[in-house]
Order: sequence, then C-alpha cells, then structure tokens
Amino acid sequence: MSQPLKPRPDAFPPVPENNDVKAIQMATTIAEMADWDRYPTYSTYVAMMNRWVEQYPSICRLDTIGTSVNGRLILCMVIKGESAMDNNPEFFYSSTMHGDEVTGYVMMLHLIDTLLSGYGSNQQYTDLIDSVDIYINPLSNPDGTYFRGDNTVSGSIRYNANFVDLNRNYPDPFGTAPLDPEQPENTAMIAYFTNHHFLLSANLHGGSEVMNYPWDSFTSSQRPHPNREWWMEVCKRFVDTCRMYSRSCFRDVNSEGYIAGGDWYVISNGRQDYVNYYHNCLEMTMEVSSVKTLSSDKLPSYWRFLQNSFVNYIKEILSITPDDPVAIHDVYAQTMGNDCNLALYPNPAGDRVFLRESMPMESVLYNAYGAEVLRLPAHQKVLDISSLPTGLYILRCGINSTKFIKR
Ligand SMILES: [Zn+2]
Repeated sequence: MSQPLKPRPDAFPPVPENNDVKAIQMATTIAEMADWDRYPTYSTYVAMMNRWVEQYPSICRLDTIGTSVNGRLILCMVIKGESAMDNNPEFFYSSTMHGDEVTGYVMMLHLIDTLLSGYGSNQQYTDLIDSVDIYINPLSNPDGTYFRGDNTVSGSIRYNANFVDLNRNYPDPFGTAPLDPEQPENTAMIAYFTNHHFLLSANLHGGSEVMNYPWDSFTSSQRPHPNREWWMEVCKRFVDTCRMYSRSCFRDVNSEGYIAGGDWYVISNGRQDYVNYYHNCLEMTMEVSSVKTLSSDKLPSYWRFLQNSFVNYIKEILSITPDDPVAIHDVYAQTMGNDCNLALYPNPAGDRVFLRESMPMESVLYNAYGAEVLRLPAHQKVLDISSLPTGLYILRCGINSTKFIKR
C-alpha cells in the first residue's frame, strides 16, 4: 500500500512558520529586483507593473481586476503579440490568493519580465505571445501579503483583511454555500472570468510541491473530471521538466508530483472547481514550494526549475481544440454524465433566447455566480432575458444543461 498522504495544508488552520525574518529581503526600488532574490514592497510591485507597460507598450497593457478590502490593486498584465490574431485563445495565471504563499508571486513577476523581454529575440516566446493572449495576475490577495504594511511580506497571512480564506469563498458548483459573504477580491475575480473566455488557467499556492488538478470537491473515484487523462499528462510534463533541473522537487505529497485534488483532500468553495464548472475553463492549482514564505535568497533556485514548465503550461492551451479528443466541450454536462440535448439559439443572445425543442419539465436559468435568475415553464421555448445583465448563463433542465452568453 502507498504511504498515507501528507495532509493538505489548506485543510488546517495556519501554523506560524519558523521564518527567520532576516531571511526576507525586500526590494524598495525596481533596480533592487534585478537579481530576483528579493520580494518587492507593494509600491515597487506597482511600479514594476507600470514600468513594463512603458517599456513594452506594443505587446502589453495593465488591467486592474479590482481592489482589495483595504484598497490595494489587484493587477493583471495582459501580454498580446504584435502579430496576434483577434481570436487567439486566452490564458490566465493567478497567484497568491493565500497571502503568505508568496513564491508564486515573485515567479509570476519574473515570468512577465522574461516573456516581455524575450519577445522579438527569443523565438519560442515570440511565437507563444503571438499565438496566445497571456494574462498574469501575480498577486490576488495583496492585503494578506502586505498584512504588516506595504514595506514587507514578513508576517503575511493566508486570509484577506476580513480574515476570510479566499479559496473557500467561491460559489460552489456542487451545492455548499460559502460560510462568509463573497469577498471583494473574489467578486472582482468572478467578474474578470465572466468578461473573458479563459480556456486554460492556473492558480498558484505554496506549502507543498504538487500539481493539483480538478476536482477538489470529489475524489476521482466519486466523480472524475471529464478531462482527467489530459490533466495527468499535462501535470506529468510539468513535473518531469522541473525535475530535469531539480531532482528533489515536487516530492512532498507523492512520488508522481501530481494528484487529483480530492484524492489529496476534499474541499468546497474553492476557485478551481468554480472556474472549471461555471466558466468552462480548465483551471488547476499549482502548489509550487514546500515553504510558504521562502527565504528570499532561495527564489532564484525555484525559478530555475519552474520557469520552463510555466512557459510550457501556457503552450498546452494550443492542444485544446474542438476537434481534439481531449478537448473540453462542456465540463458541466460531462460531469453530470449527459450529452446535453438542450439546444439554444442565438448565442450570443440579445433580449430573447429560444430553445430548439421544448422541454417536458421546467428549466432553470443560472448566472455565472451560480445564482438562479429565471425559470422557464415546461413546454415553452422562448426565454425573455431582456432584464438580465450581460454575461454567461447556464440553463438547466433536469440533468441537462447548456450555456450561452448574453451581450
Ligand atoms: Zn494556498
């Protein structure tokens, strides 16, 4: 029998780590980030994001996803090549919704710098940026990270300023209401997902080294993700590449370095399952360092083994096409084990949307937050959606479902 798994850190209250405060070096200027062996102060972080836009105006722009409880910015760098097509697939990286899990924060900043500075000189990066619209949100819980103030990440906390765990605060597709009201950081993130169509994404954490693919809400024997085989291949490629640079990485949960989330530990109200289910986006959780708040001098060695895998993971989006056997068509329908014969037109829709065939029972319309917004009686075929805001909607009838965009 295999060894018992290490408990998922997410499942337990935070244990103060034995951080040597002296091991956390902060960069108070952009220049001090040159060797990537420090954490930026909050103002250095904001300055870096703005500097990149000044330096590379033709291939990037800065989005503000929203603001935190204490008014800090939740930023996203959008990287789109000069030769990019309008309909390129959209990819999303987002780190550090647990404020004390800061390795991914610096890794994402380093990735932004590497991609932007490599455009035009490194063929691999140039091709990638021209073929995929890359969105990178390095810090999704800035109040947790800068809990002791803008000038240090020492004393950072898992939670946001309301002491809510943002990874237990998403609408749960499988039925559990979050304990706390939806937090501003998550409301903003949900709106960002609703206004884009990310096909592939990842959220980054620390505390373990393991690639955690969906679902988190079930074990794989209870309900496997419809794209489980694809996930396992993608995770294996990620870990194998890291181990070419560090043989010891991604080993603290199991020898593979990847696992179905629920097989490690079942959680509800997490972001990963919400995104897979309601946004039809393949999102996974990357736990990238065993220590949550790494000593800053260790950051370059993590970058060394992670960097190629981060780039390659973006590239995996190009393997997701409608004709591909591993393609994601409708996670919701596949998860519920039906082949979705509820058909609607037009899509995107205006004020009204029509069923191709009337249904024998009542249908229920949900918004992207999972809230019920309308009911359609049995045997009717016209849904008046003129009073609803624009966005993604899901119509369910029994075990059947379909989704559409209202514009
Ligand atoms: Zn975490």
